[in-house]
Amino acid sequence: MEPNPSNEVTVIPFDEAPRFAGPADQFTGEVQVESLFHADLAGTNGGGMVHFQPGARTAWHTHPRGQTLIVTEGEGWIQQEGKERHTIRTGDVVRIPPNTRHWHGASAASAMSHIAIAESVDGSSVTWMELVPNSAYLGQ
Ligand code: MN
Repeated sequence: MEPNPSNEVTVIPFDEAPRFAGPADQFTGEVQVESLFHADLAGTNGGGMVHFQPGARTAWHTHPRGQTLIVTEGEGWIQQEGKERHTIRTGDVVRIPPNTRHWHGASAASAMSHIAIAESVDGSSVTWMELVPNSAYLGQ
Protein backbone atom coordinates (compact mmCIF):
# COMPACT_ATOMS: atom_id res chain seq x y z
CA MET A 1 0.00 0.00 0.00
CA GLU A 2 1.27 3.45 -0.94
CA PRO A 3 1.13 6.40 1.45
CA ASN A 4 -1.90 8.58 0.82
CA PRO A 5 -0.79 12.23 0.66
CA SER A 6 -4.04 13.50 -0.87
CA ASN A 7 -7.15 14.88 0.79
CA GLU A 8 -9.37 12.43 -1.05
CA VAL A 9 -11.10 9.44 0.44
CA THR A 10 -9.13 6.31 -0.37
CA VAL A 11 -10.50 2.79 -0.51
CA ILE A 12 -7.95 0.03 0.01
CA PRO A 13 -9.37 -3.00 -1.82
CA PHE A 14 -9.51 -6.20 0.25
CA ASP A 15 -7.45 -8.03 -2.37
CA GLU A 16 -4.60 -5.49 -2.13
CA ALA A 17 -3.79 -6.01 1.55
CA PRO A 18 -0.36 -7.65 1.79
CA ARG A 19 -0.70 -11.09 3.41
CA PHE A 20 2.25 -13.04 4.76
CA ALA A 21 3.24 -15.63 7.35
CA GLY A 22 4.40 -14.19 10.66
CA PRO A 23 8.25 -14.13 10.64
CA ALA A 24 9.87 -16.76 12.85
CA ASP A 25 11.86 -14.19 14.84
CA GLN A 26 8.70 -12.31 15.77
CA PHE A 27 6.14 -15.12 16.26
CA THR A 28 5.89 -18.71 17.50
CA GLY A 29 3.58 -21.13 15.69
CA GLU A 30 1.32 -20.65 12.67
CA VAL A 31 0.48 -16.94 12.22
CA GLN A 32 -0.94 -15.09 9.21
CA VAL A 33 -0.61 -11.28 9.04
CA GLU A 34 -2.71 -8.98 6.83
CA SER A 35 -1.51 -5.39 6.59
CA LEU A 36 -4.62 -3.20 6.65
CA PHE A 37 -3.31 0.37 6.57
CA HIS A 38 -0.07 2.23 7.20
CA ALA A 39 0.75 5.59 8.70
CA ASP A 40 0.48 8.34 6.10
CA LEU A 41 0.94 12.10 5.96
CA ALA A 42 -2.35 12.71 7.73
CA GLY A 43 -1.62 10.57 10.74
CA THR A 44 0.63 8.06 12.36
CA ASN A 45 -1.76 5.15 12.89
CA GLY A 46 -1.21 1.83 11.18
CA GLY A 47 -3.29 -1.30 11.44
CA GLY A 48 -3.23 -4.97 10.61
CA MET A 49 -5.23 -8.16 11.07
CA VAL A 50 -3.38 -11.10 12.60
CA HIS A 51 -4.64 -14.69 12.62
CA PHE A 52 -3.09 -17.01 15.24
CA GLN A 53 -3.58 -20.78 15.14
CA PRO A 54 -3.88 -22.54 18.56
CA GLY A 55 -0.60 -22.19 20.47
CA ALA A 56 0.70 -19.40 18.23
CA ARG A 57 1.76 -16.08 19.77
CA THR A 58 3.94 -13.03 19.28
CA ALA A 59 7.41 -12.61 20.72
CA TRP A 60 7.80 -10.22 23.65
CA HIS A 61 7.58 -6.68 22.29
CA THR A 62 6.75 -3.04 23.04
CA HIS A 63 4.99 -0.22 21.17
CA PRO A 64 6.30 3.36 21.48
CA ARG A 65 2.79 4.87 21.64
CA GLY A 66 0.93 1.77 22.84
CA GLN A 67 -1.45 -0.42 20.86
CA THR A 68 -5.16 -1.22 20.58
CA LEU A 69 -6.29 -4.78 19.83
CA ILE A 70 -9.84 -5.65 18.71
CA VAL A 71 -10.52 -9.37 18.92
CA THR A 72 -12.54 -10.44 15.88
CA GLU A 73 -12.64 -14.22 16.33
CA GLY A 74 -11.81 -16.96 18.83
CA GLU A 75 -10.12 -16.93 22.22
CA GLY A 76 -6.61 -15.83 23.08
CA TRP A 77 -4.27 -14.69 25.78
CA ILE A 78 -2.38 -11.46 26.45
CA GLN A 79 0.19 -10.87 29.16
CA GLN A 80 2.08 -7.84 30.37
CA GLU A 81 5.45 -8.71 31.86
CA GLY A 82 5.16 -9.40 35.58
CA LYS A 83 1.33 -9.50 35.49
CA GLU A 84 -1.36 -12.18 35.22
CA ARG A 85 -2.26 -13.48 31.78
CA HIS A 86 -5.68 -12.27 30.53
CA THR A 87 -8.09 -14.31 28.41
CA ILE A 88 -9.52 -12.32 25.48
CA ARG A 89 -12.52 -13.24 23.32
CA THR A 90 -14.41 -12.06 20.24
CA GLY A 91 -15.41 -8.41 20.62
CA ASP A 92 -12.98 -7.63 23.45
CA VAL A 93 -10.84 -4.49 23.06
CA VAL A 94 -7.36 -4.38 24.60
CA ARG A 95 -5.40 -1.20 25.31
CA ILE A 96 -1.65 -1.62 25.76
CA PRO A 97 0.29 1.31 27.27
CA PRO A 98 3.40 2.78 25.59
CA ASN A 99 6.75 1.03 26.08
CA THR A 100 5.21 -1.88 28.01
CA ARG A 101 6.63 -5.37 27.45
CA HIS A 102 3.89 -7.84 26.50
CA TRP A 103 2.87 -10.66 24.17
CA HIS A 104 -0.45 -11.74 22.67
CA GLY A 105 -1.74 -14.70 20.73
CA ALA A 106 -4.14 -17.60 20.56
CA SER A 107 -4.86 -19.76 23.59
CA ALA A 108 -3.45 -23.27 23.58
CA ALA A 109 -6.80 -24.76 22.52
CA SER A 110 -8.37 -22.06 20.30
CA ALA A 111 -7.40 -19.99 17.29
CA MET A 112 -7.70 -16.20 17.70
CA SER A 113 -7.80 -13.26 15.27
CA HIS A 114 -7.39 -9.59 16.14
CA ILE A 115 -7.09 -6.23 14.46
CA ALA A 116 -4.03 -4.40 15.83
CA ILE A 117 -3.72 -0.58 15.62
CA ALA A 118 -0.61 1.31 16.72
CA GLU A 119 1.00 4.69 16.15
CA SER A 120 4.49 4.94 14.71
CA VAL A 121 7.39 6.99 16.04
CA ASP A 122 10.21 7.60 13.56
CA GLY A 123 8.61 5.08 11.23
CA SER A 124 8.34 2.22 13.72
CA SER A 125 5.34 1.04 15.73
CA VAL A 126 6.95 -1.97 17.42
CA THR A 127 10.22 -3.14 18.99
CA TRP A 128 10.58 -6.93 18.82
CA MET A 129 12.35 -8.87 21.59
CA GLU A 130 12.79 -12.56 22.44
CA LEU A 131 10.30 -15.34 21.65
CA VAL A 132 7.93 -16.44 24.43
CA PRO A 133 8.89 -19.95 25.63
CA ASN A 134 6.16 -22.55 26.21
CA SER A 135 6.50 -22.34 30.00
CA ALA A 136 5.76 -18.60 30.06
CA TYR A 137 3.06 -18.95 27.40
CA LEU A 138 1.28 -21.58 29.49
CA GLY A 139 1.61 -19.50 32.65
CA GLN A 140 3.93 -22.01 34.34
MN1 MN B 1 1.45 -5.79 20.86
